[in-house]
Amino acid sequence: MKFSRYNLVVPDKNRIVLFNTLQGHCIEIDKDTANKIKDNQIDKLEDDVKQIFIQYGIIINDNVDESRIFSYFHSHEKYSSNSINSTVLLTWACNLKCVYCFEGEKTDVQSMSKEQANRYIEFIIKLATIKKAENVMINLFGGEPLVNIEIGFYILEKIMTYCNENAICFSSSIITNGTLLNEAILDKLLSFNCKSIQITLDGIKEIHDSRRIDKQGKGSFDKIIDVLKMLNMKVGDLKTFNTVIRINIDKINIGATYELLNYIGKNGLDLTNCTVDFGIVRGLTESCAAYSSNCFVEGEIGSVLYELWKVAENQGFYYNIRPMRRWMYCGLYSDNQYTVTPNCEVYKCWEHAGEKEHLIGRLNENGQLVDIQYAYYDWMTHNPVENEECKKCVYLPSCGGGCGMVSYAKTGTYHASGCFKIKGVIEKQLIKCLSEQKN
Ligand code: SF4
Ligand code: SF4
Repeated sequence: MKFSRYNLVVPDKNRIVLFNTLQGHCIEIDKDTANKIKDNQIDKLEDDVKQIFIQYGIIINDNVDESRIFSYFHSHEKYSSNSINSTVLLTWACNLKCVYCFEGEKTDVQSMSKEQANRYIEFIIKLATIKKAENVMINLFGGEPLVNIEIGFYILEKIMTYCNENAICFSSSIITNGTLLNEAILDKLLSFNCKSIQITLDGIKEIHDSRRIDKQGKGSFDKIIDVLKMLNMKVGDLKTFNTVIRINIDKINIGATYELLNYIGKNGLDLTNCTVDFGIVRGLTESCAAYSSNCFVEGEIGSVLYELWKVAENQGFYYNIRPMRRWMYCGLYSDNQYTVTPNCEVYKCWEHAGEKEHLIGRLNENGQLVDIQYAYYDWMTHNPVENEECKKCVYLPSCGGGCGMVSYAKTGTYHASGCFKIKGVIEKQLIKCLSEQKN
């Protein structure tokens, strides 16, 4: 017998937690047992402890290569999902000019036309038919998607009608800067089973307004707070969708983030139907490399998030940060998930949209994916167990093998480890979960 390679030992104040990332089991152990695991001394374990460890997959047979188990589920999830999930960039244009945004520098402000929207609609319908989809989810994004929302509504209407006629569950979501959102648009989005509306805030008014500005240099904070209040009232009545407040954090605005959470909590927003998502600013693309010294490094993220989760919860935000088993880091490794730009170019990761080396193909007038590029095969054949760092990594079944965008930015390939928000974060999630169970 041998110890599983996926035993994560996490010391926390007066106790030690053992979490097997492959099996998902979590138990409390004493220091003596933790040392025996560290020193690989199976023979010195008490018999009853050994039996429990065998039952929970903490000790396994010598012939078992757990990376093969991971690899099986990774491939299964990649190729056999019956859920279609696609992000459509309705436009490259944006009504804001945020200081760090690559889109603000783009000279291409093309928006999707009706003819291009028809190609996209056909693409999704064909995919849903071939894959015998049970769920279709369309995410509207940009640029700022509300700049071209009529085309967005056209797409949602057509695809939802197809889904309704074919007993497929349809839903949608939108990622928006929020400044153009009004009640009429909100009602229309909700009529397309919109489940999530994500809006970004960068900090308290002073910080936010210095970063997220309109073309005239005017800040957008007050407008967004009004929109959040409107969403709040609506979600209170309906409870069918979730508002996600995305807060991008780095070393510059972290202090203001605490202030922002306090501000939101005290400003009459009922936060129980609201999630706060802390985005870690990553200085990875060429245009933001100069900013990277202001970004948190992987080893710091766990402690930073842990403090933010506590403050957010104290303000009334709903939080679920249980560590999960994750066979893929990101859904875009699945062959049912695509990002499509306004001119019908197809990419996997939306962070790569518009970058020719990551183009995987384009949609022709019949909505077929044609001119398939090598990047498609390169991306889809990413398997973390082929990379020694991921294969041996204790986090692999809770990580899924990392973000392809991070991997590419660091090494020029999709096949290296793309560690992001995992190492040190899983430990903090466990500690937080277990302390809640005790209370
Ligand atoms: S990406 Fe990083 S954290 Fe994830 S499995 Fe690979 S080495 Fe581990
Ligand atoms: S940046 Fe990483 S996690 Fe996000 S969509 Fe791209 S590959 Fe997925």
